[in-house]
Amino acid sequence: MATETFARTGQTDHTTSYYAASANAAPERPPLQGDRHIDICVVGAGYSGLSTALHLAEKGYRVAIIEGAKVGWGASGRNGGQIVNGLNASLQTIKKRYGQDTANFAASLVQEGGEIIRERVTTYNINCDLKPGNIFTAFTPAHMKELEARRALWASYGIENQDMLDKSELREHIGSDLYEGGMIDHTGGHIHPLNLCLGEAAAFERLGGVIYEQSPVIHCDTETARPMVKTANGTMTCGTLVLCGNAYLGQVVPTLTARVMPVSTQMMATEPLGSDRAKALLPTDKCIEDVRYILDYFRLSADKRLIFGGGTVYGGTDPANVEAKLRPAMEKVYPSLKGVKIDFAWSGNFALSFSRVPQLGRLGTNTYFAHGYSGHGVTGSHTFGKILAQAIDGDRTRFDVFAGVKWYPFPGGRIFRVPYSMAGSWYYAMRDRLGL
Ligand SMILES: Cc1cc2nc3c(=O)[nH]c(=O)nc-3n(C[C@H](O)[C@H](O)[C@H](O)COP(=O)(O)OP(=O)(O)OC[C@H]3O[C@@H](n4cnc5c(N)ncnc54)[C@H](O)[C@@H]3O)c2cc1C
Repeated sequence: MATETFARTGQTDHTTSYYAASANAAPERPPLQGDRHIDICVVGAGYSGLSTALHLAEKGYRVAIIEGAKVGWGASGRNGGQIVNGLNASLQTIKKRYGQDTANFAASLVQEGGEIIRERVTTYNINCDLKPGNIFTAFTPAHMKELEARRALWASYGIENQDMLDKSELREHIGSDLYEGGMIDHTGGHIHPLNLCLGEAAAFERLGGVIYEQSPVIHCDTETARPMVKTANGTMTCGTLVLCGNAYLGQVVPTLTARVMPVSTQMMATEPLGSDRAKALLPTDKCIEDVRYILDYFRLSADKRLIFGGGTVYGGTDPANVEAKLRPAMEKVYPSLKGVKIDFAWSGNFALSFSRVPQLGRLGTNTYFAHGYSGHGVTGSHTFGKILAQAIDGDRTRFDVFAGVKWYPFPGGRIFRVPYSMAGSWYYAMRDRLGL
């Protein structure tokens, strides 16, 4: 199960996910041993790290990735697989908090992550079950208004790929009577998330990149001109260091710890349902997430299981029984799945930022970081990896805009941020329950 840091359990095998059980073959990669030097060192082999490293390797840089466990061990290898365009924070919120220029900039990024993923899958022939289209579902007329406002807002920025679905139109996509309607994003989609990681890692290695696995970084010198990271059995000194440990970095880099909070979310996969039953649940094979603050998200796997996720635990601990937590929500969407066998259940941590806006920036002169996609990071991590790579390659235009966006600490500091955030989340969950 998920753990906040390696230090807590030393667990470095993949979690008990459906994805780990159906992963494409991957080589065993050695741990870092001895004292080494490289042009660019990336910590973390999730999408942020892999995207940064692959973009840099494509430009001919010598890059090494140091991963504490395995490629895709973190959120990137265990997530809902939903390609959702945009950032967690809405363009409206970004405009209110940071101004029109930042909102315009964020709007220009909305579709980029999905495009990068599709380009990677095609260029490197990555077998990760890529499917087009995602749908946001609404429970109430108020939710429908919220979705229509979101669609209109994006259209006002020139993003025209979404359509509203009334109740009967939504029924063509979801075999459930639970919803009032929804909105489809034709340029969203879904993937087997771990196989995307493994494909990107293999592409990086084919371009000469090196990945060390089972090598938790225990110390980083981030302020020196030539940064250095230390593991149990080695050091890596580099011209540029990129920190992409996200929710799992823990307290290895204290200046980053306060910026984000680890939050766990849970997932499970049913037994294979067979084509007919699966088609009755999701006839067009789109992925679904609802509009609530604490949302359910689900989709079909390539072998026709329902993969269902939901719930959050602030602080990033795992619930004792994931299936018991998720089953009632799944059976509410699909009463026909009452009693269905659950083959896999797991949990994973994402990094929440207080503003829900991801952060990237620099420590010292030659250490970069990106994190805090706040639960919507499949696309964002790919985009931010590209922006980091562009900055390291000398084009800091986009990096400087985002690095200049103010970040806000969680109220309550490290000790009280979990109870404070739980109280905030309780308030929003109550609003959801009341249909507000
Ligand atoms: C269960 C779950 C479901 C989700 N569903 C979705 C979804 O459907 N759609 C969506 O858009 N987003 C989703 N997310 C969020 C999304 O998965 C993340 O935002 C994204 O994968 C973050 O990528 P990352 O590379 O920044 O972090 P991670 O994938 O967590 O990668 C960080 C890596 O750094 C390594 N690391 C950390 N510390 C160290 C260290 N000290 N030394 C060496 N290595 C270290 C970790 O082992 C890990 O492999 C979900 C997240 C979870 C947990």
